[in-house]
Amino acid sequence: MIKTISYLGLGTMGSGMATNLLKAGYELTVWNRSVDKCEPFAKKGARVADTPADAVRNVDLVMYSLSNDQAVEEVVFGAKGILSGIKEGQIALDMSTVLPATSLREQEAYAKRGVDFLDAPVFGSKQESAQAKLWIMAAGNKAIFEQVEPVLEHLSQTVHYFGKNGNAAAMKLVGNLIVALEMEALAEGLVLAQKAGLNLSTVMEVVKVADFRSSLLVNNGQNILERDFSTSFALKLMLKDAGLIEKFAESLESPIPALRVVEKNLASAVALGFGNENASALIKALEKKAGVEVKALNR
Ligand code: NAP
Repeated sequence: MIKTISYLGLGTMGSGMATNLLKAGYELTVWNRSVDKCEPFAKKGARVADTPADAVRNVDLVMYSLSNDQAVEEVVFGAKGILSGIKEGQIALDMSTVLPATSLREQEAYAKRGVDFLDAPVFGSKQESAQAKLWIMAAGNKAIFEQVEPVLEHLSQTVHYFGKNGNAAAMKLVGNLIVALEMEALAEGLVLAQKAGLNLSTVMEVVKVADFRSSLLVNNGQNILERDFSTSFALKLMLKDAGLIEKFAESLESPIPALRVVEKNLASAVALGFGNENASALIKALEKKAGVEVKALNR
């Protein structure tokens, strides 16, 4: 049974998950590149490690949620990285959104050290992470998945097993392809509604109930109308994911014409300086072209 866990990467997603692991009673070690983010966890009884190699010593399970493939490269494969500290019999779990090829490279490197590895990315954002309501996918050895599943259940509302390593990472990209297109659809729709002089609050009332409704459209639409672009999922991370989807789809010769358009709009919004805002700030690139600002009438 898993009792001791290390969590590396205490950003928007990792901090919520690490907090819930402490709440669930696991003995926790944390590591983050910017050390100040470790402080609240030290106060709650977590051990703070100096390096990834130090963080993974003597724990049953190592979990991490890092920005991108390059961060995984540094934290896992780099000097004083996880691979230089982890030992046979331990389990590693990558919860970042990365290319399936990166997950496979991780799995191979861990296997050489007798370490089992699962790719286990998540759906849900800041709020779902904080409230242990994530939707988690995991892939790798089934027996190892079954050992880890009770831990994941403390963080999530659902956990789906996806078979061989790389498949959960692939599912995450499939999901984020749909998310990116939904965000673009919402932005284009709201800009058109604004241009047409519709009452945007009434527009959102319809979006909430009609057969095309989704919580993603409703939550992001409401925030756009309130001009609230505080970050749950950073625009720059969505652009990163669009790049991953493009690479992955190209490797399989799967057509992604709409994603290519969204990627351009994401890049324009980042170039306008909105990369650290929420992904819904994608609309600002379209607003600039349209010469309007989408907002509720009473604002
Ligand atoms: P975030 O808030 O930007 O946090 C990123 C984390 O990665 C931080 O701990 C950061 O450390 C660390 N990091 C970045 N580059 C690093 C490097 N070179 N070396 C070491 N550490 C590095 O991002 P997030 O929103 O938590 O996202 C984390 C992962 O989950 C990403 O892969 C993202 O795509 C995915 N994801 C996010 C969401 C969401 O809604 N936010 C949802 C699903 C999946 P510092 O604190 O030092 O910068």
